[in-house]
Amino acid sequence: MDSEVVIGKLLSSKYTKITTPETADLIVINTCCFIDEAIQETESWINRLVQIKREDSNKTLMVIGCYPQRYGKQLSSKYPEVDYWIGVNDFPFINEILTQKNRNRVFIDNPPYLYNEKTERFLSTPSHYAYLKITEGCNHQCSYCVIPSIRGKQRSRQIESVQKEALQLIDQGVKEIILIGQDIGHFGLDWSGKKELAHLLKRLDHSLPNGIWIRLLYLSPESMNQQLIETIATSEKICKYLDVPLQHTHPFILQKMNRPSNIDKTFKILNTLRKTIPGLFLRTTLIVGFPGETDAIFNQMVSTIKSFRFERLGCFVYSPQSGTPASQLPHQVEDEIKQNRYHQIMKIQKKIAHDFHRSLIGKTLEVILDQGPLSQKPRTFLGRTYGDAPDVDGQIKVIVHKNSKTVQPGDILKVTINKSSTYDLEGIYS
Ligand code: SF4
Repeated sequence: MDSEVVIGKLLSSKYTKITTPETADLIVINTCCFIDEAIQETESWINRLVQIKREDSNKTLMVIGCYPQRYGKQLSSKYPEVDYWIGVNDFPFINEILTQKNRNRVFIDNPPYLYNEKTERFLSTPSHYAYLKITEGCNHQCSYCVIPSIRGKQRSRQIESVQKEALQLIDQGVKEIILIGQDIGHFGLDWSGKKELAHLLKRLDHSLPNGIWIRLLYLSPESMNQQLIETIATSEKICKYLDVPLQHTHPFILQKMNRPSNIDKTFKILNTLRKTIPGLFLRTTLIVGFPGETDAIFNQMVSTIKSFRFERLGCFVYSPQSGTPASQLPHQVEDEIKQNRYHQIMKIQKKIAHDFHRSLIGKTLEVILDQGPLSQKPRTFLGRTYGDAPDVDGQIKVIVHKNSKTVQPGDILKVTINKSSTYDLEGIYS
C-alpha cells in the first residue's frame, strides 16, 4: 500500500512512466524488515540496485520504508550509492525530498503518517481487488516484534474517509476491498476510546452496492465482541474469513511473548465465531521455536491445532530481532529444532487442509475470478473462494459450463466444488 502511495505521488509530479530499474531515471525500493528473511531479501535487492546505479551514476536511487526507519543513520556509510533513505512517515513527501540536492541523506523524522481518501494512489493489484488501510501502527507490545517501534502507536482513519475511499475504489472497478491494519479490531480506539470496527463495517455494509466483497485482515481474538461477531455474521458482503493470529497456544509462551495468555478464553471466542458464523474459514499464524519452548510445550501446541483444526494456518520460525525483549530471553531454541518443529506443524496442517478441502466437495461457495480464460482452455478460470485471501491462500480452478453466461475476472460466482487437493480446489459454474 505504501508503494501505491509513492507511485501515485510520483505520477502526480514529473514522473510519467513505470519501467525497469535498468531503464529508469529514478529507482525506488520499498522495504520490509520485521524478520531475518525479510532483511536478507531487502539487502540483496539493495545490493542489486546499487550495482545498477554504479553503472549509471545519473540515476537516483531511493530506499524507503521499514528498513531505513529501523536502521536509520547507520545506512549512509553502509551504502554510499543510495541517494535518499526515507522512513515510513516521510515517504509521502517524496517529491519534496527529490528536490533536495544533498545526497545520501536519511529522512526518518516526520510524525506518524496515515494516508486518506484524498491521497494520490496508484493501484498495483489486479483491477478487481484492492487493499484499504484503516489503521497504521500497533498498541500491542509483543516481546519479539519490531513493528511498533518502526510504525508507531496505532492510529485509525475516520469512518467517512474509509467509506469514501471504498466507494472510489468501487467506481474504479474494484469488487473485493481488503481492509488491513496490524490489528483492525482496535480500529477507532485512538479517536473514540472505543473499538469502532463494528460501526465501520455496518456503515460499509449499508453504503456499498451489492455484489462487493469486504475482507478483513488481522483481528486479535481479544478485539472480538458480540456486536462485531453479529455484524460479520449477518452481512452479505463481509467474507466469512477471519485471520486471527494466535502466534502460540501455550500460556507460558504467550506470557513470554507478552500476548494475552488466557488460552481457554481465546478458544472460547474462536468457538463462538465458528458457531455464530456458518461457513467461516478461520486462519491463524503460529511461531515455533520461541525461547523457552520445550518439547512438552510444543507438543501441547500440536495437540491444540490437531483438535481445533484451523481451516487455514501459517507458521513462522522464531528469529530473534535486535532491540526486542525476546532476543534477550534465556533458553533460545536451537535452529535445527526450530526447523523440525516448523516442518511438523506444516505436515499436520497439510493433512487438516486436505481433509477440509475434501469436505467441501459437493458444496457451493462464492468465488471471485482472478484470471482467465486460460490459454487453450476458453472455459477455465482461476479464482479464490471467499475463504482465500490473495497471495496468502490457495486458488480454485473454475470450469464454466458451456451454457452459462459469459464471465470475466472480477466476477463473483456461485461455484460447486467437484475436486480438491491439499491447498487448491476445482469447481463448476453453471
Ligand atoms: S500485534 Fe502484531 S504488529 Fe502488534 S506488536 Fe504484536 S506481532 Fe507486532
